[in-house]
Amino acid sequence: MQIDIDPILQRLGIKAINEASSTGKNWNSAGTNAIHKVFSPVDGKQIAEVKFASEDDYDTTIKKAQEAFKVWRTWPSPKRGEIVRQLGEALRDNKEDLGKLVSYEMGKSLQEGYGEVQEMIDICDFAVGLSRQLYGLTMHSERPLHRMYEQWHPLGIVGIISAFNFPVAVWSWNAALAMVCGDVCVWKPSEKTPLTAVACQNIIQKVFEANDVPEGVSCLLIGDRTIGELMSNDPRMALISATGSTRMGKAVSAAVGARLGKSLLELGGNNAIIISKDADLETSLIGAVFGAVGTAGQRCTSTRRLIIHESVYEEFKNKLVKAYGQLKIGNPLDEKIHVGPLIDQDAVKSYLESIEKCKAEGGNFVVEGGVLEGEGYESGCYVKPCIAEAKNEYQIVQHETFAPILYLMKYSALEEAIAMQNGVPQGLSSAIMTLNLREAEQFLSATGSDCGIANVNIGTSGAEIGGAFGGEKETGGGRESGSDAWKVYMRRQTNTINYSDKLPLAQGIKFDL
Ligand code: NAD
Repeated sequence: MQIDIDPILQRLGIKAINEASSTGKNWNSAGTNAIHKVFSPVDGKQIAEVKFASEDDYDTTIKKAQEAFKVWRTWPSPKRGEIVRQLGEALRDNKEDLGKLVSYEMGKSLQEGYGEVQEMIDICDFAVGLSRQLYGLTMHSERPLHRMYEQWHPLGIVGIISAFNFPVAVWSWNAALAMVCGDVCVWKPSEKTPLTAVACQNIIQKVFEANDVPEGVSCLLIGDRTIGELMSNDPRMALISATGSTRMGKAVSAAVGARLGKSLLELGGNNAIIISKDADLETSLIGAVFGAVGTAGQRCTSTRRLIIHESVYEEFKNKLVKAYGQLKIGNPLDEKIHVGPLIDQDAVKSYLESIEKCKAEGGNFVVEGGVLEGEGYESGCYVKPCIAEAKNEYQIVQHETFAPILYLMKYSALEEAIAMQNGVPQGLSSAIMTLNLREAEQFLSATGSDCGIANVNIGTSGAEIGGAFGGEKETGGGRESGSDAWKVYMRRQTNTINYSDKLPLAQGIKFDL
């Protein structure tokens, strides 16, 4: 299926060459700006060009954000929520166009492209309600005629560094919450998917203009890691929220930590599903296959390992091999297609290297991989989802390869399966397929999964915005999106008020003059 991208680009305000930065009002490019071509992994065609932000662009943008914060933090939170409500409405109006561009620029299926925009709408709705619920606690003072409570204040500038695989949703998880909290945002999207970011910025600019929102409340800087490094090292950034690889997270964490700044890290996963002897094998199959091949294995929550009970191992393996034989690989804009392309040639190279490493360590491929060629595969980014019988301790199994490679392992006792599931450096998403209540509860208990997300009878892939999202260990420990994740975007202040005519000290300490 061919997509007529030009009218979509036009409606989303994307030009042939796009400026490097936006303050939420104006687009700018200052200094010497490198030009970067953006190609679609779907058909290999160039979509447009962007200018990369210079240090001048960076500095001007941060100064605008600083000025904007002085005003924005004084707007009542429900009034800030009203702006986010209108942003949600504008996203509803643009859902089809933006969803198609996400699909075309990133390569995920059209359904997932629309789903990503829906996730943005959902978080806006969530943030609107939240704008009236930024609750602090009150506590009883130990001193007479004293009152004690805590309240939450805005932090300042939130720097958002995002990954290619969720090119717009991750920005909105951060920005919608940060904005109702009274923060201002500076977004550096992935250099692999800058056009969807330009489209979002155009949408937000219209909403801001209609509401006289101060210039600088939501800014965009297009660029590669050098902009991310400037942000991480900049003490003007109150919080850096970074989504991407563990390698990137370690660099950001070191830079932000060195200046004792705050960071929220959402990094790589290495997610497993335990298939118990008491699993419903039919629903398990759908969960496992969608988790492993959906988004061509390029989700942080993609299923990378299946830990299968020995009594159902052969049966489940055969079902998987049969299901993989039916997968349709091709243009993700065609609704009948299951698997689209990888993001670029570098990703294809790392997929091929991982297959070789797995073989060298003794892995037995029951579904072979490979790169697809010929009509429809001209971009060179289409690969075959593959399955290998492997061991958890293989170096390659311990590593997150961002591609559709699935490793199978066998277990006999649940404790052993949980130890394997936890026996990797990452700790994002996990699942058990079982109809046995004891097994399910054991998996969810303190001695069970060590991940930020633990599911029962649902695969590892995907999450709802209402829960706090994130993972442990090398996944970075951050939490975004629902529940009380908003607290990361604010600073807590404890207030004690004395309304007596004495000055009693805490802990009964005496100090008389
Ligand atoms: P990446 O680490 O290559 O890049 C992510 C972002 O970080 C980009 O914007 C990039 O320019 C920037 N960056 C890279 N090095 C940097 C540095 N040293 N300092 C500052 N910024 C830097 O990741 P990617 O290939 O775009 O995305 C895939 C990775 O993201 C996978 O590991 C995936 O698991 C992870 N991811 C995690 C989550 C989560 O919520 N846990 C969500 C999506 C993706």
